Amino acid sequence: MRYLPPMRIGSKYWEPIKEQLDIIFAQEIVNPLIATFIMLYPFAAEKEIWNAENYDEIIASAIRRGEVYFSGGKFKGKGNSKISKAFKELGARRERGGDWELEPSGLILEAIRWRRELNSAIAAALRGTLDSIETTASRSRYDVESGGAALAADKSLSESLRAISVDKQMTDEQRQTFRRDYTENMDLYIKGFMKERVIELRSKIEALSDEGYRAEKISEIIVDEIGISKNKAEFLASNETRLMAMAYRQRNLAELGFTRYKWDAIMDAKTRPDHAALEGGIYKYAEPPIADIRRGLRANPGILWNCRCRDLTIVEGK
Ligand SMILES: [Zn+2]
Repeated sequence: MRYLPPMRIGSKYWEPIKEQLDIIFAQEIVNPLIATFIMLYPFAAEKEIWNAENYDEIIASAIRRGEVYFSGGKFKGKGNSKISKAFKELGARRERGGDWELEPSGLILEAIRWRRELNSAIAAALRGTLDSIETTASRSRYDVESGGAALAADKSLSESLRAISVDKQMTDEQRQTFRRDYTENMDLYIKGFMKERVIELRSKIEALSDEGYRAEKISEIIVDEIGISKNKAEFLASNETRLMAMAYRQRNLAELGFTRYKWDAIMDAKTRPDHAALEGGIYKYAEPPIADIRRGLRANPGILWNCRCRDLTIVEGK
């Protein structure tokens, strides 16, 4: 049997698309959260009270700063030796979990009320930010420039066909269609991702109500979100480029009468068992085998995340 060289899509073709997605996710999701966060947590001015020797004031200050919070009749939080000493001096009882039990009164009670008001303002502002992310997602159109993906699809197929001296280049019309479809798909993925993030962020922020919306907890959520967005940008750019290039390849090979390939797995320690099992098998481009048994996903080689398998196109009737 004769084979064509497989599809090859270098990361340099989709990395500029990933960068565009990084910028979109930063502008639409992460930056609004950071802006809200900065606006709500300008607490540097508590220092003087912090230096006070009055134990009531020390605890009240810690409450206002969100380092200690009052929940379920107990004082919780990360605390430090100064806070512990103040609690002790005020006659609080230390619980096994590290919480302090003390009837709040005076300055401390005032601080709890103040912080409660602030917390509901924080919660409302964050909810508002998430609502506006959701609105933005449904109203915007995201025009990702996908020329690199079209180029990768074109180049990869041309190189494969050179092996049988067929000269095939993407026509202008094919290029336009490719880029339009790519951009339309990406627009949907971006919106889908933003909506999905809003749902998860709402529940993460909701869960902070018991912990008094501490600044460090909110910043943890934001830092996690940056990582999640970056991973998604990489996945979307890489996956969509491969998918579209494979669809282009499949259509054009079919016109030449080539509809089947041999599955070529790398077969090393990193090869997933599902793909090792497909190694050497003959499949049709139009009917990909199940390449992820657990999730029941059908895919041609090189399509699933991090898949290094290749399609050796079978040259028939030539
Ligand atoms: Zn694979």
